[in-house]
Amino acid sequence: MPHRQVYVGIRFVLTLCLNLRRATVLTASPLSDPGLPAVRKSIRVCGVVQGVGFRPFVYRLAGEERLAGFIGNDTDGVIIELQGPESGIESFLNRLTSETPPLARIDSVSTANLPLASETTFRIIASEIHGSVSTGIPADAATCSDCLRELLDPTDRRYRYPFLNCTNCGPRFTITRRIPYDRPQTSMAVFPMCRECQAEYDDPLNRRFHAQPNACWQCGPRVWIESADGSRIESSDPVTETIDRLLFGEILAIKGIGGFHLAVDATNEAAVERLRDRKHRYGKPLAIMVRDLDAARAICELTADEEVLLQTSARPIVLSHARSALGIAPAVAPGIPWLGIYLPYAPLQHLLFSDTRVKALVMTSANLSEEPIAIENEEARVRLGNIADGFLMHNRDILQRCDDSVTSIVDGAPQLIRRARGYVPYAIPLPIEAPPLLAVGGHLKNVFTLARSKFAYQSQHLGDLENPTSLDFFEHSLAHLSHTFEIEPETIVHDLHPGYLSTNWAKRHAGERNLRLIVVQHHHAHVAACMAEHALAGPVIGLSLDGTGYGTDGRIWGGEVLICKLDRFDRFAHLDYVPMPGGEAAIREPWRMAFAHLIEAGFVEHEARELTGATDHESRLLSRMIERGVNAPLTSSLGRLFDAAAAVILRRRKVDYDAQAAIELEGIARLEADSLSRYEYVPELTAVDPGQGGSRVMTIAHLWRALVDDLRAGVTQAKIAANFHAGIAEGFIRAAANARESNGITQVVLSGGCMHNRRLARLLRSGLEEQGFKVFQHRQVSPGDGGLSYGQAAVAAAILEKEPTR
Ligand SMILES: [Zn+2]
Ligand SMILES: [Zn+2]
Ligand SMILES: [Zn+2]
Repeated sequence: MPHRQVYVGIRFVLTLCLNLRRATVLTASPLSDPGLPAVRKSIRVCGVVQGVGFRPFVYRLAGEERLAGFIGNDTDGVIIELQGPESGIESFLNRLTSETPPLARIDSVSTANLPLASETTFRIIASEIHGSVSTGIPADAATCSDCLRELLDPTDRRYRYPFLNCTNCGPRFTITRRIPYDRPQTSMAVFPMCRECQAEYDDPLNRRFHAQPNACWQCGPRVWIESADGSRIESSDPVTETIDRLLFGEILAIKGIGGFHLAVDATNEAAVERLRDRKHRYGKPLAIMVRDLDAARAICELTADEEVLLQTSARPIVLSHARSALGIAPAVAPGIPWLGIYLPYAPLQHLLFSDTRVKALVMTSANLSEEPIAIENEEARVRLGNIADGFLMHNRDILQRCDDSVTSIVDGAPQLIRRARGYVPYAIPLPIEAPPLLAVGGHLKNVFTLARSKFAYQSQHLGDLENPTSLDFFEHSLAHLSHTFEIEPETIVHDLHPGYLSTNWAKRHAGERNLRLIVVQHHHAHVAACMAEHALAGPVIGLSLDGTGYGTDGRIWGGEVLICKLDRFDRFAHLDYVPMPGGEAAIREPWRMAFAHLIEAGFVEHEARELTGATDHESRLLSRMIERGVNAPLTSSLGRLFDAAAAVILRRRKVDYDAQAAIELEGIARLEADSLSRYEYVPELTAVDPGQGGSRVMTIAHLWRALVDDLRAGVTQAKIAANFHAGIAEGFIRAAANARESNGITQVVLSGGCMHNRRLARLLRSGLEEQGFKVFQHRQVSPGDGGLSYGQAAVAAAILEKEPTR
């Protein structure tokens, strides 16, 4: 199955070291077959081997195979020495890779022969760690099946305990203050283990051996319920009380793993509407959590790939096609045929769904708009008191905020829309060795990247960097991750846009510390991110298709055909420039973009007015702006072209969230086949822009005429939307073919926020492959601005390799 490999790729991880600072020496039963001829081998294992049950696993294996020796660690990974019959060691090695604990990941195993020693037992030894340590923290992992069974077993001592976990599951990244990942460095430090928990923790044959968050009813964190004003509600069973309130239609703020959720019954339209009103979130789809896979199948047409993705230990939100008669409140995802669904990943969530009356819950990040999610109890009371009717609280602190990850299956494999819980802080390989550096990303959906050597570490999704709370979150997360991975950046990489908060932060920070600064153009960074994921050196043809990015000519780019290597790029072609009347206002009000596109395409003012539903006043105002070029910056953005098309086809004047119009256009096109019925929809390479060093211009005037003709002829919205998608794809495929004629390049990289559009991604990939291109898409970082900083890091690594000094 192709995407299993990809998931492994997403979770590709640094070489981790076991943390055996304690002088623990544990010994297994002695060898019982002294008569067999013995050999001794050393075995080095690299991969994810800390906090994931690797030591008890190896200890148990050695015991079962009756082998002597030890397991320890050093800076390069885990080192095991084994002594015993050759057949036993062979069996051990087979089982090492075939029975690996669920959260562990073996990247490499190498063996060497050693002389025999006089050992008769297998030990876990304390190890000295020298030099630079790449000790990390695992990502948070969903409750495992063993823990789930205990949770629901009335005879188990952890029956209905909301914080049970083991080495195969539980919180990690979000409860850790600093490395080494060890209980005193986590928010579990304030809960001394009871005797029984301690015994499990100390027993290498126990599933909870060194499970740092291990806890039970006797010794661990507790939940309680509060009313909206923060006063405690006396209840012997806060979980059942919460369920009753949710079913009654209340909005509950529920403290989770990486932050608070706002929860509401997803089948109750009035309750969902009330949540939207209070959260000031109109239109944007809300994620819903359901009990299990069967419940998910009942409301969505899940593909096999989506089912696998839903059940991974990262438990991301997965976008999936909604079934039509499903009982979910229409207000959950108005205007689009998809739902963002996910499965419970924390014991507390499983408890909510253990009541069969609970069918589906809206579980959305507890924040306003793109502000950081609330994590502290007092902060939640203050920030959410006006939204929630009550709080399900607990007293285990969340130390690192981390939103739920959002994914979708794009062209047969998972793609990340938001990379956060369950994926962070796992490393992503870099194709070029990088000196320690920090890439600060862009502006919206910010994620930064720290890099050193051949690995990049992306932060969790941080949100839009436009207010002080987001910047605080950025700095907090940076301090945490640079400490965790011991990366002291010598270079800071930022976007070309002079006005971004991230750019200014980078310049100030580098100035204060005398660090080297590297600037990377936005669309180059997008392509470089995808190149780096696939270890492509280039040159490649990069289709960098998105909403907004600052170009080298000071204009707003976004429909770009670039010829890229990692360290530089040429602009081969771009969509023709069109004014954005009102600047940012044209993003919030797509009719403005439609008006500008129609005027540029040669329609007269009254036609543009009629087609966009503008008033006389609006029409006159926009015409003047466009004519005089006042407050109408020029853009070649494909995202804005999608907005404009949606405004005309769907009559959508305003949007409530980023890319809403384009998402609705993709949604309505779903009813039609992929094929193109009107070739006039295809943008054409018609001119060479002399101001762009010979970059070709893709004109779209005839596309608009074909679209408006269809509209006037009464062609369905679905058909026009499908033609539009197919035409855009065809235009960029032809541009790529043109680039190949000029340069002989056959590799095409697809990147930019428009690649979240699954129809466009599919059409581009299949069309390009038909033309004999090799096509690469994002699988480990987001194609949108969440992946930008990883691309910046890759570009900087390539530049620094060539010019190590300033
Ligand atoms: Zn578990
Ligand atoms: Zn306990
Ligand atoms: Zn972008």
